[in-house]
Amino acid sequence: MARGMLIDVTKCVGCGACVEACQQANGQPPHEARHFDQDTFTYLLDRGNDVYVRRLCMHCLNPACASACPIGALRKTAEGPVTYDPQRCMGCRYCMTACPFGVPTYEWFSPAPRVRKCEMCARRPQGPACAEACPTGATQAGFRDQLVAEAQRRIQEDPKTYYPYIYGLREAGGTSVLYIGPAEPEALGLPTHVGFEPLPQLTWRALKHVPDVVVFGGVLLSGFWWLTKRKEEVARHEGAHKSKEVNHDR
Ligand code: SF4
Ligand code: SF4
Ligand code: SF4
Repeated sequence: MARGMLIDVTKCVGCGACVEACQQANGQPPHEARHFDQDTFTYLLDRGNDVYVRRLCMHCLNPACASACPIGALRKTAEGPVTYDPQRCMGCRYCMTACPFGVPTYEWFSPAPRVRKCEMCARRPQGPACAEACPTGATQAGFRDQLVAEAQRRIQEDPKTYYPYIYGLREAGGTSVLYIGPAEPEALGLPTHVGFEPLPQLTWRALKHVPDVVVFGGVLLSGFWWLTKRKEEVARHEGAHKSKEVNHDR
C-alpha cells in the first residue's frame, strides 16, 4: 500500500511547527517561509479568519515532473513519495515547467545546482517530520487508502464543519497528499486549474506536436551532458589511479 498525507485545514492552528520541522529535517536555515524556494519545501497560506493551508509537493500518482524528466532523475516510488536523484539530474528543469502545482524550484546560484522539493521525507525512518511535529493532527501521514477513508468519515460525521470535497482524490489523476477543509478548494487557495486527467498523458500529447528538431536537440543535450559527466568520471578515476601509482613509487 502506498503512503500519503492528509491535511485537515479545519484542525490547523497556523503554529508553523510543520514548517520548522521540515526546515530542520532538510538542513535548511530557519526562516519565514512564504513560497517554494530552494530552502522551502512547505509553507502556510494565511487565508484569513484563522484559516491556514499548508502547501507542499502533492506527490501525484502520475507525476508530470517525473514523466517530463528525460533521464529519470525524478520518479514515483511504489511507497508513495516522488523522489529526486541529483546524481542523475542534468539541470534541464523540464520538471519545473511540467508540474501543474508549481512546486519544484532550483538552486540558481549554486555551482552544483539541484532541483528542490519535498520528497515526503522518503529517507527518514520515522516518516514525514512535518506530520510528526503537528500538535493538532492537522497533518497526518499514513497509507493513502486509509487516509481517504478517514477523510470521508470526517466529512460524513461533521457536515457542518467540512466542505464535502477531498482535494487530491482526483486532481491531476489523483495525488498522495490530500486535503479536506471548511470551504471549497478555490477558497482555500489550492490550485483548481489542474483538471482530473493525469498530466503525463497531456505532456506526451503535447510532445507529439513538438517539432522533431526540438526533441532531437533535447536528446543531443542529454548526450553532451552524459559525455561530459563520463569524461569527468574517467578523469577522476585516472587521477585517483595516478596518485596511487605515485604513492606506490614512494
Ligand atoms: S506536485 Fe509537481 S513536483 Fe510534486 S509530484 Fe506532482 S508534478 Fe511532481
Ligand atoms: S514530508 Fe518532509 S520534506 Fe515534505 S513537507 Fe513534510 S517535512 Fe518537509
Ligand atoms: S503544525 Fe499542524 S497545526 Fe501547526 S501549522 Fe502545521 S499543520 Fe497547522
